[in-house]
Amino acid sequence: MVYENPDGVMIGLEVHVQLNKANTKMFCSCTSDYTDSEANTCLCAGCLALPGTTPVLNEKSVDYAIRIGLALNAEIENETDFFMKSYFYPDLGNGYQVTQFDRPIVKNGSVVIEGEDGELKVRITRAHMEDDPGKMAHFGTIEKSTGSIIDFNRSGMPLVEIVTAPDMRSAKEARRFLDKLRSILEYLDVFDGTREGAMKADANISVNVFNGKRIEGTRVEVKNISSHKAVEKAINYEIMRQKDYLRKNKQLVQETRHYDEDRNVTISLRVKETADDYRYFPDFDLVPMIVGDRVEGIRAQMPELPDAKRERFVSQYGISDAHAKSLVTERAFADLFESVAAKVDQKSAASWVADVVKGELNYRDLPITAIKGDDIVTVIEMVTKKEISEESGVTVIRTLLDDGGKPADIVKAKGLAMVADDFIATAAKEAIAESPDAVADYKAGTEKALNFIVGKVMQKAKGKADARLAREMVLKELEKM
Ligand SMILES: [Zn+2]
Repeated sequence: MVYENPDGVMIGLEVHVQLNKANTKMFCSCTSDYTDSEANTCLCAGCLALPGTTPVLNEKSVDYAIRIGLALNAEIENETDFFMKSYFYPDLGNGYQVTQFDRPIVKNGSVVIEGEDGELKVRITRAHMEDDPGKMAHFGTIEKSTGSIIDFNRSGMPLVEIVTAPDMRSAKEARRFLDKLRSILEYLDVFDGTREGAMKADANISVNVFNGKRIEGTRVEVKNISSHKAVEKAINYEIMRQKDYLRKNKQLVQETRHYDEDRNVTISLRVKETADDYRYFPDFDLVPMIVGDRVEGIRAQMPELPDAKRERFVSQYGISDAHAKSLVTERAFADLFESVAAKVDQKSAASWVADVVKGELNYRDLPITAIKGDDIVTVIEMVTKKEISEESGVTVIRTLLDDGGKPADIVKAKGLAMVADDFIATAAKEAIAESPDAVADYKAGTEKALNFIVGKVMQKAKGKADARLAREMVLKELEKM
């Protein structure tokens, strides 16, 4: 099936997910948690590919791949196997990468994202297991480098490569796909997305309609882009470059390019290899795997995923779809919401957690652990009981994040307690006496004039009055006139 594509841009992604929660590397017992270790210290003869070593498969990495496949609504291959993909590169000790070829463990899945014009189902062609090479660092830029150094700590890490069909039509859709995928993977607890290099993407980009005419699009692959923001920028650059070539009648070639984030350009690395160049060959150290019998056990233990949770939040708590969508992007956030919603009004819980708490955490770039659910509950209760205004509630949340402490102490220290009703009644009378023009306008039928008077009451209460009550009291006074 070919998707209709009016803009003429087709984007497919290959996403490499490092299973850094699999405890060990893919074929040896070295730790998968090497991030904070010194270079070249998490190694053994196996992951250095020294002669005479044989691989022992980490079962957990297989289970994680199955878990990912199920989350992507895909088919799991009953019998699967490993191949050697040969290429010469200094960070690859074996001279080949262990990967899968014609029988990937996962195939034919899909992920639904918000497209440019409504829901877009991005097809997942396949997802296969492979091991990561070591990590090279180049002195200077990749084109003009005078030398390189290698750290083998990463060598042999289990990866799952997820390959999409070219169903995305803009850089923004590609970014949304990656955000959604990351969210799903975090729910699955198969990787820690905050680790450097935990998720990397290659983007295939081709422009196949230009100036309203269908052309033979040339697929260009931009390799190893590490952040979602960089993927979006790299794709936008590449679309612009390809259209510029077409405009000038220059020949586009099928090639692999590198994205230089500092300069925001892509540069040619090599003309694209074909499968033949890799000389795929069955890995004679690894027997075929029968995985079918594991699938049902794993399926039974699958967590609730973001889409299902979003639907449940709307039906169970009666909150808006926009709030539900915002709350489920991170599992920890969804959990926080549910713990708060168990104790206070559920709609209030949704708007405080999704709008206020999430916004303030993001603004400060703080993790969710920076705030306690019980403190949020206390703040919501104080607002509901009209002990403090909504505005003051936000101040309390901000103070909790900036300085810590207890909500009640913050209210006291900052003098946020709501003023008494009789204060508002007096303030309403004063505000009316001070605003003869507004009163006359209101009496003449200008509803808006009321806001001016209520605003004056709020000023007198220094924001520590309930705006609805202030309005009611102003109206009551006006009726007497
Ligand atoms: Zn090892």
